[in-house]
Amino acid sequence: MGFHRREFLKISGTAALAGALASLGFDLSPVRSYAQALNIRAARETTTICPYCAVGCGLIVHTDQKTGQVLNTEGDSDHPINEGSLCAKGAALYQVAVNPARVTEVLYRAPYSDRWETKSWDWALDRIAARVKESREASFVRQNEKGQQVNRTEGIAHVGSAALDNEECWLLQGMMRALGLVYIEHQARI
Ligand code: SF4
Repeated sequence: MGFHRREFLKISGTAALAGALASLGFDLSPVRSYAQALNIRAARETTTICPYCAVGCGLIVHTDQKTGQVLNTEGDSDHPINEGSLCAKGAALYQVAVNPARVTEVLYRAPYSDRWETKSWDWALDRIAARVKESREASFVRQNEKGQQVNRTEGIAHVGSAALDNEECWLLQGMMRALGLVYIEHQARI
């Protein structure tokens, strides 16, 4: 079997690299790969949109029929934007729902304090409601300078986070508009 110069250099270069890696302790012997076992045969399938950026890739979410727990997320091959593919960020979306590192308690840092205090959800919701009411009443505008009825509050803005999906954004829009907010954004547009 004869080699051209280019093929010889390619083969000898590959052999030299393999030898160098082996001498550094890398194991270059073939390994077996296994498909990940996913128990999603009886799961419920729901489609949604990736919340992370404005590309808007489609996903399928598999949830347990009984508990509603998220079992798996993956690209939706029927979606016209991404046709099943996802970037690394979208492919890791499962971790938004299932993540042992997630903070599950309310942590509050008082003004000028240097430490976090753990509070109850009832405490946090009552406090948020009181502060929203106070700001809304202080900044509510019934008419603009032309005398037109506008009924809006200019003292509160809302920025949706990267962990909000399409459906949660829809609910938040309704609630924020009902309060009279006009400064409403989502991180995917920023
Ligand atoms: S999968 Fe990646 S590219 Fe697609 S919407 Fe999510 S972050 Fe954007």
